[in-house]
Amino acid sequence: MSTIFTKIINREIPAEILYETDNVISIIDIMPIHYGHALIIPKKEYKTFLDVPEAELKELLAVTQLIAKALVKTFKLEGFNFFSNNGEIAGQSVHHFHIHVTPRYPNDKVSFAHNLKKYNEGQMKEVADKIRANIS
Ligand code: AMP
Repeated sequence: MSTIFTKIINREIPAEILYETDNVISIIDIMPIHYGHALIIPKKEYKTFLDVPEAELKELLAVTQLIAKALVKTFKLEGFNFFSNNGEIAGQSVHHFHIHVTPRYPNDKVSFAHNLKKYNEGQMKEVADKIRANIS
């Protein structure tokens, strides 16, 4: 079963395509945080960020920047977010890796973080040590 994005890439279902290369496509998100909210998608069906080969990241990020610049110019933005949900627990609903880019506006009440945690004495180093041990 191909993903909804593969169906868009194959022109089996319609979408507003902003840009495409041999490897990457950018479309308008059908349920935008703000108008113009765009998605940047590798044409191959990688499930999450972790599955994308390193060799493909450069083009993916270059297209993300190209689209972000176009949004800034189009909507005269002071700022934007780009982000990616990876795994259902993180809010991923389409299991075909993609990057969101959405315009932001003053007082738009869009929020990503609530209840920020604090580290106890020494805890930040403990956590960092654990992560460092797994960087390969
Ligand atoms: P995520 O929840 O991070 O997996 O993001 C999936 C995004 O795909 C959501 O923001 C949806 O609104 C968007 N989406 C789903 N179906 C379509 C479609 N047919 N055309 C454009 N965007 C879509």
